[in-house]
Amino acid sequence: MRASINKAHVSGAERLVDGWPLDRVLAELICRALSSHVMPDEICVTADPVDPASISYTKSLDVRTIDPSSHKEAYKISTKILRSSGVSAIAIERAFRLLLSGPSPDGNNMRGAIIMNALTGDRIEPDMRRGVRVSRIDYTGDARALLERGLKGHGVYHERVIDALAIATKVSDRDETLAELCWSDNPRYTTGYVASTASGYVRIMHMKENGALKGGRVFFVDYKSASIDQYIDYLERQPVIIDEIGHICGSENIRRRVKGIEACTPSTDAQKGRF
Ligand code: AMP
Repeated sequence: MRASINKAHVSGAERLVDGWPLDRVLAELICRALSSHVMPDEICVTADPVDPASISYTKSLDVRTIDPSSHKEAYKISTKILRSSGVSAIAIERAFRLLLSGPSPDGNNMRGAIIMNALTGDRIEPDMRRGVRVSRIDYTGDARALLERGLKGHGVYHERVIDALAIATKVSDRDETLAELCWSDNPRYTTGYVASTASGYVRIMHMKENGALKGGRVFFVDYKSASIDQYIDYLERQPVIIDEIGHICGSENIRRRVKGIEACTPSTDAQKGRF
């Protein structure tokens, strides 16, 4: 689903469903478009078939939530995670600048993501207005229910996490991806995230100011290893279903960060992600 106003992106969502719940899911997607922060003047829902034999299955990234004391702290912690995932300082600075000012060349939000050379900060996506839209990703019913229960149980539930974690997991599963940075263009949702296989999916509160209308996603790639066409084809077309949920942690206050991280590394996966 994609919804827009005056051709500018308002909201979007993707699902991958097994036949029968299609009518319910289509209704949910339209409701989602209608409950966007502004009323769209165009809603487009597309459904197309997927060959079940082409689906790959994966486990979601571990989820943690950091509650920094300010935007400045949020920027610092994001930078630290991105640097430890191999992203250069120049690329990080460029990505933040783009998302703060509106990543499309006309200063608007994009429908899809920026693909950025993690070393030089150059943009690689072929269409800088549209970006690259990650699609054909979903959870099994059991995995979705487990995730919802886990997030609620740790007091970090937000409906946006479900879709965003799916996107981040699909993106991070590809070797070319070093890390991802995201915050929403919804002015009321100020929690962003940084994700990578090493760090997991790290939700970072206060990533942007309340009321700020700009947001987006940046996928940082190792350009040397990237066949960009194959990479984009995977993101847009490869069907991926999450059938296992990674570890979920409660919120960590930045002032207790070291302690929080110690308490939050029960699995070897998570241990890889210490920063
Ligand atoms: P959202 O978190 O849904 O507010 O999305 C924030 C930004 O991320 C949007 O403005 C788009 O630029 C980008 N985005 C949203 N969904 C996708 C997707 N499925 N694939 C790539 N980029 C996306």
